[in-house]
Amino acid sequence: MTDWISAAAALAPETRLFIGGEFCAAADEATFDTISPRDGHVFARVSSAGDADVDRAVRGAAAAFDSGVWSRADRRTRQAVLFRLADLMLENLDELALLEAVDSGHPIGDARAVDVPTAARTVRWYAEALDKVYDEIAPTPENALALIRREPLGVIGAVVPWNYPLIITAWKIAPSLAAGNSVVLKPAELTSLSALKLAELASEAGLPAGVLQVVPGVGRVAGQALGRHPLVDKIAFTGSPAVGKGFLTYAGESNGKQVSLELGGKSAQVVLADVADLDACASAIAWGIFYNAGQTCHGGSRLIVDALVHDELVEKVIAVGRSLVLGDPLDESTQVGSIASEVQLDRVLAYTAIARAEGAVVHGGERVRPDGLGDGFYVEPTVFDGVDNAGRIGQEEIFGPALSVTTVHGAAEGIRVANESAYGLAASVWTQDLTTAHRAARDLRAGTVWVNTFDVADVITPFGGVKQSGSGRDRSLHAFDSYTALKTTWISLDSASTTKE
Ligand code: NDP
Repeated sequence: MTDWISAAAALAPETRLFIGGEFCAAADEATFDTISPRDGHVFARVSSAGDADVDRAVRGAAAAFDSGVWSRADRRTRQAVLFRLADLMLENLDELALLEAVDSGHPIGDARAVDVPTAARTVRWYAEALDKVYDEIAPTPENALALIRREPLGVIGAVVPWNYPLIITAWKIAPSLAAGNSVVLKPAELTSLSALKLAELASEAGLPAGVLQVVPGVGRVAGQALGRHPLVDKIAFTGSPAVGKGFLTYAGESNGKQVSLELGGKSAQVVLADVADLDACASAIAWGIFYNAGQTCHGGSRLIVDALVHDELVEKVIAVGRSLVLGDPLDESTQVGSIASEVQLDRVLAYTAIARAEGAVVHGGERVRPDGLGDGFYVEPTVFDGVDNAGRIGQEEIFGPALSVTTVHGAAEGIRVANESAYGLAASVWTQDLTTAHRAARDLRAGTVWVNTFDVADVITPFGGVKQSGSGRDRSLHAFDSYTALKTTWISLDSASTTKE
């Protein structure tokens, strides 16, 4: 078995900005500390991009775009580079997984089995897709030919969060690059290291200088500079609703750039009395909220359960939660790692007090200090039972390993309560009745509805939300389309014809 702790100690990650194909310090040499949540200690000092750095990165990306070196490159060239990048990601699986585990607190087992392979598969899938998407010819009169072509948009500003750094980055940059855009990526302050490694691998794969720039930095500085830059054509954002709305303002106050937003959720798992297999359901519910210590935007954070199965199901969910191995992300047996930051830890713990104040019965909810990692940020899997869906616990995104349980009577009430949320990212329904399942899938207001399962997904399906969960979609060819602009070329086939229809 690999000694991941020694391997992590031997890491010497790149910590500088990546602009114009080279790593460089910020213009003012500013840095910020990145703290590993596994032990609460400073792990690296990362260059912090300021306005001047972001401006240089965007102008370089725009120049690369205008030069056509990537935007007009033969599709097979783009494909070969992205295939090579996907291969390199897998060849560097251990290093990328280690960076993710140390920086974000993901268990190393998940980082190796899920995060890196999923990100690599995303890059490969868009590379495969890019010469299989055909353009269109419009049904014009016989005297004309109108071509409708997809063209790359230009410069994409990708601003991503800390909960799945590599996967969410791949969801943004893979379709962007496949479509021929240039990208300026602003990783989350808490988790910049895997993005910088990715930039190095992209360069090694043959991506021309300037096509992918990475500018770690503070959100309100580097993120805002990107959001307001007049040469950025689109912002692809995942994060909190407040910051997402800020990007709409930046766009409105600058060049009216496109903005796609994925803003988290409060996903409901509606379990009806005729659920087929309570054990399988309990396991899916527990993993749906405790995986990645609950720091999942579509995490199934609300269990809305019929009174007839409430007691048995909740008991089983609590048992699954207690059985999970919580601890050091660098231990291969760990199933639940740390919370990504102290701020987030405090936020999650504060909700335990709120739950008690709102009258919920609290199971778990305490900070854990594993041996030797006492300063790390760990919370035990938590269940808040007897939650009023209208209260703060039922409505606010906690973003930690905390499940709220609300009891209902029958499908109609279950769907109604599930929809009583400002969010609409994902939901599930558990029932054996086909008609009820289809009706629920129709009536649940969410971008994804699972039936008798949870959190099964792939790059082949679109992902995104409705209501305050945002707009736009990651994954699938719909995402590819969203990084292109449609251009109409109308060709007259009759030199005398100038008539408008
Ligand atoms: P934020 O929305 O603050 O951060 C997301 C990204 O936006 C980061 O790269 C961040 O940079 C950047 N950013 C922050 N402030 C600004 C700003 N004023 N202008 C431009 N860019 C900015 O999410 P947090 O990481 O702070 O998490 C807060 C909450 O958001 C979580 O508790 C959770 O509820 C939700 N969330 C949802 C996620 C999802 O997947 N939908 C993911 C992460 C969080 P920096 O890292 O420097 O702050």
